[in-house]
Amino acid sequence: MIQDLEYLVKLQEIDLKVREQELAKEQYPVAVADLERRIASACEMSVDNVNRLARLASEVTAANEQAAKLRESLGKSQERLSSIQTNREYDAVHKEIEAQKALLASAESRKSAIESDIEKGKATLEEAEKAYESAKAELQPQIDDLMAKIGAIDSVIAEIIAERAKISPMVSLPTMRTYDSIRKKKKSGRAVSLVNQEKTCGVCFMILQPQLCSEIRRGTKIILCENCGSMLIWDEAAGS
Ligand SMILES: [Zn+2]
Repeated sequence: MIQDLEYLVKLQEIDLKVREQELAKEQYPVAVADLERRIASACEMSVDNVNRLARLASEVTAANEQAAKLRESLGKSQERLSSIQTNREYDAVHKEIEAQKALLASAESRKSAIESDIEKGKATLEEAEKAYESAKAELQPQIDDLMAKIGAIDSVIAEIIAERAKISPMVSLPTMRTYDSIRKKKKSGRAVSLVNQEKTCGVCFMILQPQLCSEIRRGTKIILCENCGSMLIWDEAAGS
């Protein structure tokens, strides 16, 4: 194989590494934001439960106050019974007492319903807090790991690019031009297709004619895959 192509294979490897890092540079912050969102939503669930419990506690206080007031006026009505003169008055006060008793019973049953909601709410809060703690324990190390990678990515790319700068002058200008123009068209950024004994294009896996394979193996000129347009290069690592 002519050396030009040998260096081109190395160049392709380097370019794919750069590409991988650049993709990671876009994807890591997205992944971090997603993990942070998951922790935040677990935290929100806990906070929601805390707020709900506070609301229920103030409802219990209100129900207690209402019951106390009803008990007081009930007591007053019952006192009045002893000093009543007429039957009509007695009936009226008696009715009043019945109505107050009914109101008191409903205030008390509301209070016990709220108290049972509080007990359930406490259990839910405990679960939500556990879920929040385990979300943090599971996801925070992943965030830290990604943040470290994000922090190092530019220097990793700089290293790869320095490596590229050593290789690229070894590739002739026409070969480089062909490579660049194909690479730009490919979504994968892969312009070089390595061919081995399987005798298929390494990119699109189209079967190659034996005569074409021999030409590729000689490596004296640039041959493109008829199907996917990749530069077909014999894979020296695969042997002969
Ligand atoms: Zn192909």
